[in-house]
Amino acid sequence: MTVRQLLQKKSGSLVTISPDAPLTEAVSSLAGHRIGAIVAVSPTGRLEGILSERDVVRILAEKGTDILSSPVSSVMTRAVVTCTPDETVPVIMERMTRGRFRHVPVVENDRMIGIISIGDVVKHRVEEMERESAELRDYIMTA
Ligand code: AMP
Repeated sequence: MTVRQLLQKKSGSLVTISPDAPLTEAVSSLAGHRIGAIVAVSPTGRLEGILSERDVVRILAEKGTDILSSPVSSVMTRAVVTCTPDETVPVIMERMTRGRFRHVPVVENDRMIGIISIGDVVKHRVEEMERESAELRDYIMTA
């Protein structure tokens, strides 16, 4: 299955934030949308960075709550690993495992069109395995 097909099965809009927004706003957005990472985009829509709940926990442990008024840009990861919609799900799974991150923004023609999380990948894999075992069961029953 391709990333594009996986994105089509996902509901919900793409959640982004300005790199200039305070961390408090990012924390509210992560909690409000029940997501684990938020993508920072410039006013022109360019991908500037990614901020995950892990970044927030780490910076809070290091600097304390005063940091929450600092901009997202001071904490986010700038070197974002992305994928294209035509890549396959196993390839993205491998990229997440190697990079030790759970979110990969999907970019097409320099525009971000979605984000794939480890949860989406695992859900797809479980459905695929259930389908395979049902097919195998049917085959054995009718053989
Ligand atoms: P995560 O596992 O997604 O919560 O992220 C773990 C760490 O990797 C955090 O420091 C994130 O900012 C960073 N990160 C998350 N996704 C990506 C990505 N696609 N490319 C680069 N870094 C990322």
